[in-house]
Amino acid sequence: MDFLEDSALTELRLRIGAKLLPKFESVALPELLNATELSVIASEGIELEDLELIRVEGDNTLSFKGYRVALYIRDHGLVREEQTLPVFHVAYCPIIKSMKENKRLYRYAVTHQEDEYFTLNWIGEHTSRFTQQLTVCQRCLSVLKWDHFDMHEMSKEAQLLIVFAFTLKVFFTRYPKKLAV
Ligand SMILES: [Zn+2]
Repeated sequence: MDFLEDSALTELRLRIGAKLLPKFESVALPELLNATELSVIASEGIELEDLELIRVEGDNTLSFKGYRVALYIRDHGLVREEQTLPVFHVAYCPIIKSMKENKRLYRYAVTHQEDEYFTLNWIGEHTSRFTQQLTVCQRCLSVLKWDHFDMHEMSKEAQLLIVFAFTLKVFFTRYPKKLAV
């Protein structure tokens, strides 16, 4: 990915260098997923070392290189101190906010998959890859007011009905993967 960014930057430099623009640093590069990345993000997801490239859209959804994404922690097992139930995120909830602010040692992944079976790494004595069904983060549902989800005014039963009815397929219908330019 660094290489692609570098080559794009070089190309840009060559292009604007010919025109002798004084401040090429201020030219915004359109960062879009390339064909390979689009294929990986649609299947097992793209691994990220940190959340620097994750942007928060005006509707509070999360995006990566011009596309809305679902995001989750890929590394589990001994690498994590807390053993909470794994969830995936679709919005800028307080958990994502703290993840963005605190540098952690484990990896994340962003995905366009349309089912709820996620590719995870088990980090232990031996590291292995496995697939696990995850549920959507309730705080994300609250941020998006998904199907009128409410953390406080709604019964636990009503909340869980919405959580278990949530699918990424429907999410990407309501919030299209490709951002409008
Ligand atoms: Zn969340």
